[in-house]
Amino acid sequence: MNYNAHNTVPELFSSMVFNDGVMRERLPKDVYKSLRKTIDNGKDLDLTVANAVANAMKDWAVENGATHYTHWFQPMTGITAEKHDSFISPTADGRIIMEFSGKELIKGESDASSFPSGGLRATFEARGYTAWDPTSYAFIKDHSLYIPTAFCSYGGEVLDKKTPLLRSMEALNVQVLRILRLFGDTTTKRVLPTVGAEQEYFLVDKTLYDQRPDLIFTGRTLFGARAPKGQELEDHYFGAVKPRIAAFMRELDEELWKLGILAKTKHNEAAPAQHELAPIFATVNVATDHNQLTMEMMKNVALRHGLVCLLHEKPFKGVNGSGKHNNWSITTDTGKNLFEPGKLPHENAQFLLFLAAVIKGVDEYQDLLRLSVASAGNDHRLGANEAPPAIVSISLGDELTAILHSIESREAYPGTQHVNMEIGVNVLPTFPKDTTDRNRTSPFAFTGNKFEFRSLGSQINIACSNIMLNTMLAEELKQFADELESAEDFHRSLNKLIRRVIKDHKRIIFNGDGYSAEWREEAARRGLSNYPTTPEAMIHYVDEQNLKLFRDHNIYTEVEVRSRRDIILETYCKALNIEALTSIDMVKRDIIPAVSAYVSKLTNGVLAKRTLSASIPCTAELDIINAISSLEDSTYQTVCELERVMTDLKRVDANVIDLAFYYKDQVIPVMEELRTYVDGMETMVSSEFWPYPTYADLMFRI
Ligand code: ADP
Ligand code: MG
Repeated sequence: MNYNAHNTVPELFSSMVFNDGVMRERLPKDVYKSLRKTIDNGKDLDLTVANAVANAMKDWAVENGATHYTHWFQPMTGITAEKHDSFISPTADGRIIMEFSGKELIKGESDASSFPSGGLRATFEARGYTAWDPTSYAFIKDHSLYIPTAFCSYGGEVLDKKTPLLRSMEALNVQVLRILRLFGDTTTKRVLPTVGAEQEYFLVDKTLYDQRPDLIFTGRTLFGARAPKGQELEDHYFGAVKPRIAAFMRELDEELWKLGILAKTKHNEAAPAQHELAPIFATVNVATDHNQLTMEMMKNVALRHGLVCLLHEKPFKGVNGSGKHNNWSITTDTGKNLFEPGKLPHENAQFLLFLAAVIKGVDEYQDLLRLSVASAGNDHRLGANEAPPAIVSISLGDELTAILHSIESREAYPGTQHVNMEIGVNVLPTFPKDTTDRNRTSPFAFTGNKFEFRSLGSQINIACSNIMLNTMLAEELKQFADELESAEDFHRSLNKLIRRVIKDHKRIIFNGDGYSAEWREEAARRGLSNYPTTPEAMIHYVDEQNLKLFRDHNIYTEVEVRSRRDIILETYCKALNIEALTSIDMVKRDIIPAVSAYVSKLTNGVLAKRTLSASIPCTAELDIINAISSLEDSTYQTVCELERVMTDLKRVDANVIDLAFYYKDQVIPVMEELRTYVDGMETMVSSEFWPYPTYADLMFRI
């Protein structure tokens, strides 16, 4: 750690980032100006400027201990990828100098064939390239200069998550500006979505982790009886942080601050051994890079403390899983948050128009939002009775909902102020912000000046959801702008439009308990989608209205959408394949042998007693032998069944969709059944014989 070189947090902060301050200090004035234009307005960078930037970056990086550089990108694996090249370059006299050219900065060649492409990339064209994204600052980590980049095939097809994210930001920018102009704003030049991603995670002891093949291979416990204590006492949420965890959190903060990540809040979460970190929000592109780095740092720093950070969505059955809350808003380059209700009549009208666009967008593209968070791990949360449900809806809070009702019905708003809701004329009644944020069961909540999308799984790249959010909003605003730009009377048309949207799309608004069975029924009556699992959600990616959305806003071609669907389904299948094989292995090689050994010990005890005297009671042993043996039998039958199902799978002449449904319908139920028998045995077998650390060990011994 360089921490000692920097005594205060402000000195430490961003010390490993080639940020604006460093650029201004180190670049010739005209070079700095051209680069700024590229960053702010997306202007192309010419090679002389790139050369100057590259050289300054290299000097700065070398001074700060770097020997290598890497183009850092976000392929469809969900994690980041990097390949390191050193700066060394030989001289005629047999020595080396440190060199880095503009060309190397701007574009990198990469072998694309080892990254998932969903059949996009023909094998004869295995090359891909990475292109510098100057809107996210370069940084130093582990003696390498990291250059954030986008990743494409040579044919230009996108192979990553950053390219479509940048495209969606641009699409949104175009349409928001049209709306702002309608409201007389002539000064705003650019708008950017901002995101703060709250990250949940578990920490477990490394020595215990190492004894669990399921944690090692799948990131979650495939077996494990509940501990006597779970989260029912609610004593962990916001509880005092244990010293060992506090030391981890402190070091994590320092590492993140060095990388310019605005780590702000840390606390214990609901489940034992669960914690959360929240940053201050940033432009979505940067927030995405920062969230990927945060997850990586969590894992690395945990290891230094003898801990393992679990980012799986559901490491433990019976206690809360981990998610990510995606707080999303739109900010202008003049510093205005467009989801802020505002106080002046025209601000209110504008806010209501953006709100209407979000309502309409979430209603029309609920399937896209749902599938943007789909994964084998997240199915354990969304499909079950925790976290947000698989049904997408918006909670606006009672006050704002009442306001929308007044607008729709033209009745006066019944609040304290009795306001007539003619939009653009009257001020929105002020409503207390905190009433909007109380419903923690909603997947998509308005929280005063931003929307909080809460369905994301803990491991997912947040780009996925934000591509959907930005693009759907761009589409709605495009429709609104088309209608309003040609309107004769702007205010009348605005009123009409907002009223119409509320009327047509209010079914998506729900402020009640999202976990309840009643809501599932009510949502079905309202015609909202409910896809509890990944395959059920993913098949809607290629629905015509979704393809059209991506086509119209230049985000993806149809081929690209299909490839993305296939990659996500392939990943789902692979995750379940590993889980099934790990289950079989654990049961056959560890669990059944351990149980048999224990039963034979009990049996020998009974026999020994009997040789002493026939009248010594053996009821306890015999009952236990009986109960365990019967569970052991069921375990054996079921593991054989699981093996059979996995063998049959090879015979499913499958496209990836059939295969994914096969895992969902045939494999998962058998794995779940198997687990019930194994967990039953765990509660009866002597702890001395049980081959794995228990839930109590994992969650409470830390
Ligand atoms: P909580 O959701 O836990 O009540 P807050 O609402 O204060 O906490 O903030 C949660 C997250 O929302 C933080 O990461 C914060 O940076 C982010 N956030 C706040 N304002 C905005 C905004 N305008 N755009 C995007 N994210 C924001
Ligand atoms: Mg929150």
